[in-house]
Amino acid sequence: MRNMPSVLVVEDESAIAELIVVNLRHNGFRPIWAMDSTGAQREIDAAVPDLILLDWMLPGESGLVLAKRWRVHPRTKTVPIIMLTARGDEADRVAGLDAGADDYIAKPFSTKELLARMRAVLRRRAPESLGKPLSVGGLVLDPETYRVSFNDQPLKLGPTEFKLLHFFMGHAERVHSRGQLLDKVWGDHVYIEERTVDVHVKRLREALAQAGAMVETVRGAGYRLTVKPETMPIPSV
Ligand code: CA
Repeated sequence: MRNMPSVLVVEDESAIAELIVVNLRHNGFRPIWAMDSTGAQREIDAAVPDLILLDWMLPGESGLVLAKRWRVHPRTKTVPIIMLTARGDEADRVAGLDAGADDYIAKPFSTKELLARMRAVLRRRAPESLGKPLSVGGLVLDPETYRVSFNDQPLKLGPTEFKLLHFFMGHAERVHSRGQLLDKVWGDHVYIEERTVDVHVKRLREALAQAGAMVETVRGAGYRLTVKPETMPIPSV
């Protein structure tokens, strides 16, 4: 089983939106379409996407205003944003990047270019969403085959612990609050208590056995996956 990266497409021109949606679907993404800022905000409130494709010129609030707002909001500040626009000059490109967009693509663009830029941004910002094997210290996780190992010894993880470790490994050495983990791993922070995170972190540590020490509690802040001297990969001779 594989989690397809979810992509919120905010675009008011339905012909362009449909083209993007169809292409994303054919290329292993899960697109969600919103026509304007209100619809986009509603989708984000329901579940934080892995990536946002954001048109600049929208009815109501512009893409620029939305990018600025999402960049400072705790739920969305780490979500990669690619701005789509007919505006191609440098001043606009700078304004888009200043607003917090990760990249910028001028219309008309080819699907190939769009996909390449999306993958580049995801590799940089959310490598766990791409379905490629990840390795941190001696831990290796392969989302395609659903396998986890530590120093080549296979480990057994429950589905939630697998998702949690997947996220941690995509963002090693960074501290994540319980709220952020609920958003990223459970996908909806509204109906689950933060205590649930603690329960699954405990199970994850148990399942990781020796490597469990890599999942650190950061007091008052949350959790972090970190490489420890005792969990470094054993060099093969
Ligand atoms: Ca537009």
